[in-house]
Amino acid sequence: MAIPAIKLENVSFSYPMNDGEEQKAVNGVSLEIEEGSFVALVGHNGSGKSTLAKLLNGLLTPTAGRVLVYGADTADDKKIFEVRSSVGMVFQNPDNQMIATNVEDDIAFGPENLGVPREEIIKRVDWALEKVGMSEFRHATPFKMSGGQKQRLAIAGVLAIRPRVMVLDESTAMLDPKGREEVMNVVKQLNREEKMTVVHITHYMDEALDADRLIVMNDGKVVLDGKPSEVFAEHKLLTAIKLDVPCVTRLAVTLAEAGIAVDPRITDEEAFVDSLCRLL
Ligand code: ADP
Ligand code: MG
Repeated sequence: MAIPAIKLENVSFSYPMNDGEEQKAVNGVSLEIEEGSFVALVGHNGSGKSTLAKLLNGLLTPTAGRVLVYGADTADDKKIFEVRSSVGMVFQNPDNQMIATNVEDDIAFGPENLGVPREEIIKRVDWALEKVGMSEFRHATPFKMSGGQKQRLAIAGVLAIRPRVMVLDESTAMLDPKGREEVMNVVKQLNREEKMTVVHITHYMDEALDADRLIVMNDGKVVLDGKPSEVFAEHKLLTAIKLDVPCVTRLAVTLAEAGIAVDPRITDEEAFVDSLCRLL
């Protein structure tokens, strides 16, 4: 088997506190993320998702265990450049990710910092803008844009670094439904067409459904990991850790529990309607 894009070996992370105590945020997580996969990560507030995200590109290094990005240890100072170039991060608030007053300069910022030659930067800016569907905004100012447009711009900025993995930490949380859809479409397309490995942290269960794999965190640990339909079938556990299941799954589970012959693993609205129609 090819080496995984990212491998976590028994990783823990604690934040040092002022009183000399520690706040454990990630607790003994081991997992591999396959190249080209689309992984969703969910968990209620404080479960350790953002800390895990920052461990994936060396913004934080483990207090125990190892994180390997294409085999490079994120704790190895000599590899940090390689790690940061391989794993791009998109955060929640699009306004905090804007650097320049013009779209082109904003996207060029990342590769400029990496010392990419001018000619190559121009190519990357063109390519990144096209990928996020923002080519016509090349000379616009980012501050006047919608949330969805700003977040697509943030994605373009990350793309210009040419990472192999993109981590999105609740990057759709501040967007309206249209903005969310714009961003999700861009991310799914990058995964499909560019074979970009995606780790998408979200609290929207419908977004989690679209992933190849769904990882659920609680209290710093991975508690469920599998295909979204398998994970959502564990609705009792999910409810116990204060997570919602998609509306259609909740309906299917309720009906199945009432003795109606519906598959409780259904996560797709059309499949649900089909199975109801067959019953009639
Ligand atoms: P999530 O993204 O799932 O909400 P976080 O990774 O942000 O979770 O937080 C995990 C735990 O670590 C929480 O208990 C949180 O309070 C704590 N934590 C997060 N950031 C810090 C920090 N900078 N200093 C101290 N504790 C923190
Ligand atoms: Mg978070």
